[in-house]
Amino acid sequence: MLNFIDVILPIPLPNLFTYSITRAEAEFIKPGMRVSVPFGKSKIYTAIVFSIHNQEPLIYEAKEIHQILDETPIVSRYQFELWQWIADYYMCTLGEVMRAALPNAFILESETIIFRNSATTVNDSDLKDDEFLVFEALHHQTSLTIQDITSIIDKKNALPVIKRLMDKEIILVKEEVYEKYKPKLVRYVKLHKQYATDGRLQELIETLSRAPKQREVLMRLFTLSAKDHKPIKVSELIQESNASSAIIKSLVDKEILEEYYLQTDRIESNESKKNSQFALTNYQTEALDNISQNFKNQNITLLKGVTSSGKTEIYMKLIESILVTNKQALYLLPEIALTTQLVQRLQDYFGEKVAVYHSRYSSNERVEVWNHVLNNSSKAQIVIGARSAVLLPFQNLGLVIVDEEHEQSYKQFDPAPRYHARDTAIMLANIFKVKTLLGSATPSLESFYNAQQAKYGLVELNVRYNDVLMPDIELIDLKDKHKRKRMKGHFSDRLITEMTETLEAGNQIILFQNRRGYSPIVECQTCGHSPQCPNCDVSLTYHQYRDQLRCHYCGYNTVMIKTCEACGLNTLDSKGFGTEQVEKEVSTLFPEAKVARMDLDSTRGKYSYEKLIDAFQQGDIDVLVGTQMLTKGLDFRNVKLVGVMNADNMLNFPDFRAHERSFQLLIQVSGRAGRTKERGKVLIQTYNPYHNILQQVSTNNYLGMYHEQMDDRHNFKYPPIYRLIKITLKHRDYNKVNTGADWFAKSLRMLFKEHVLGPEFPPVSRIRNQYHKNILVKIPKNQSLTKTKEAIIKINNSFSSVKDFRAVRVILNVDSF
Ligand code: ADP
Ligand code: ZN
Repeated sequence: MLNFIDVILPIPLPNLFTYSITRAEAEFIKPGMRVSVPFGKSKIYTAIVFSIHNQEPLIYEAKEIHQILDETPIVSRYQFELWQWIADYYMCTLGEVMRAALPNAFILESETIIFRNSATTVNDSDLKDDEFLVFEALHHQTSLTIQDITSIIDKKNALPVIKRLMDKEIILVKEEVYEKYKPKLVRYVKLHKQYATDGRLQELIETLSRAPKQREVLMRLFTLSAKDHKPIKVSELIQESNASSAIIKSLVDKEILEEYYLQTDRIESNESKKNSQFALTNYQTEALDNISQNFKNQNITLLKGVTSSGKTEIYMKLIESILVTNKQALYLLPEIALTTQLVQRLQDYFGEKVAVYHSRYSSNERVEVWNHVLNNSSKAQIVIGARSAVLLPFQNLGLVIVDEEHEQSYKQFDPAPRYHARDTAIMLANIFKVKTLLGSATPSLESFYNAQQAKYGLVELNVRYNDVLMPDIELIDLKDKHKRKRMKGHFSDRLITEMTETLEAGNQIILFQNRRGYSPIVECQTCGHSPQCPNCDVSLTYHQYRDQLRCHYCGYNTVMIKTCEACGLNTLDSKGFGTEQVEKEVSTLFPEAKVARMDLDSTRGKYSYEKLIDAFQQGDIDVLVGTQMLTKGLDFRNVKLVGVMNADNMLNFPDFRAHERSFQLLIQVSGRAGRTKERGKVLIQTYNPYHNILQQVSTNNYLGMYHEQMDDRHNFKYPPIYRLIKITLKHRDYNKVNTGADWFAKSLRMLFKEHVLGPEFPPVSRIRNQYHKNILVKIPKNQSLTKTKEAIIKINNSFSSVKDFRAVRVILNVDSF
């Protein structure tokens, strides 16, 4: 009898591929192991064994496999089940899911290069013979290829050795190796040494009598150091003496105080462990009880808890309760919310049991987490991660938590699989027959609708921790302010007054503007021309900091032009404003305040995002200007005021979700204000203060927003009432895209009639020299999703068999955003 395996190749092939194996191999191989296989004329791929059988393929001759790469499976049967669901539901191939799921280091390819890991000390006697040979060779050569190793150990199958050496951390495969985030340095102050003698000190205090604020700081420093002889943090001093950081800075500049830096964890590790214990408040306990109650007859429960109500604490207690059963917990968060802040909180509480998994991790770190999860190791009993963590090889999952479930970044946009991590997580929980908790202060319409339909349980928590009041939200009419000349730049007099008071009280400010750069539109006042990106159909944004014009779609940039390219006059003017301009204006209005900016441009560097957050937390920044990056799960204690510079551009965004999203974004950013003691203040500047969404935001009226938006979704046939599949056609040739899209839409219309929208060019119809055109298929609840997809696939197949259209790329996006 002949033996065969079907494998998944990490490429977008619709079918599994069959290879032949020997009898001995058949006894060894199990589904979920990797094998390397020849494909096409000369390629070698790492493939995953899907099944083992005896059916010879009918239409091609099965080739032999090249090597077996594992000794035990690295992909579990639960994962196969999930992969299959993803491939079916999101209309992609298993190979695409495999690519997304496996850390790159698992997909060793023929050019992989191996290095010695100098961080590990190796005891020769711990090595098997073949391992030793490779290890030895790396003393003479800095790197080896897989071919090299094959000939060194004189075996056809080098990869198990490589894997073992990787597991023992003796070698590294070529990958970008990111350094781990170094523990942050905290700023401390002490009296400058020139005042060490009593006499000089007396003198100093007298000279400061004319500077009462500075004197107050100094006196406070003395009391603090006398009290517990500990180093004094700048942030502590600021808080205790009610001084601004500008005052501290001037004392340092005058060499009265001296700053120095220490690593936090060296000092605080014991302290934070102690503080990590907490008890739930009565409200939180009630919410937790309700969740457990709901779980008795619901698999999924939505926790709708206002910002700063302590949802995280509830998650932690829930996780704790499943840990005693030795099960694994998955805690999903949007990428950007995975700050050290939250990770630290969990690690302080759960210690070594917490593993973190997200895209900024190096491939090696990801392999480590993968193996821990696969082996059900206690080191990854709690996995906290972004989208792709849902694809880890859980063995004994006990609970899934999806925090900030409304976040659009849970949906992968490109490349395939275009999966929604929240929905996939629910499916994963389903496979393990365990519960899912979704959490948000501003649930997605989808989830809240499911709760209303009793498909999900619903638990509400409407009080903030410590009974801090919800922030007071005030709308400011920009039209009126302009008319009455009450504006300085983009700041209304109200905003300036509130900022002044906040800074004087030593509190911090967040300013939100949903555009980066200096000004998004540069336009000639004489001829109306505005500079365009040569690769995309979009105007370029002015970035003053670099004196550049940049494209936000493809990254194209050029030095700022002085005269109009069209008419030649120097009458270029800029319209609109971004974070860079806000930052600049703050510096002019408040020269004493320390301003920083948090957006894509300022956080490109490794850990620059974390550094900004640390600095803000330490009180080294008074005013933080930023884009929506600021809205995700950040917990700052000292922010009193949040200013939204302009709420209008997001409300006017051409998308059926624009209103829902604006509501979520504004409530979330408002939620950063007044989280600890006093009530926070939020000022929203707008030209449309009577806009329903803004009214709903200012009264925290989620239900009002929900009902109004749901009416629209009903009337215009959008989710969650209808499902959507978006079909995008892409090609360099405008005409090809046009005729192709017409053909496609016409075929769809024959079946789905009025439920087909388009084809339509999106607002930016050319990106990186590719034209895009979209067709939308709306699917009523009572229409079979499976049949609809089958029909679309059929049409797509006929489409690509038309010679003229073969080169047009078709992208299918199920539940598109
Ligand atoms: P949410 O996620 O709902 O916005 P958080 O979980 O971040 O709220 O809680 C807000 C703040 O209140 C955090 O600083 C948190 O540490 C604190 N907090 C919440 N509940 C408790 C509790 N039971 N004991 C101590 N601190 C708490
Ligand atoms: Zn561009």
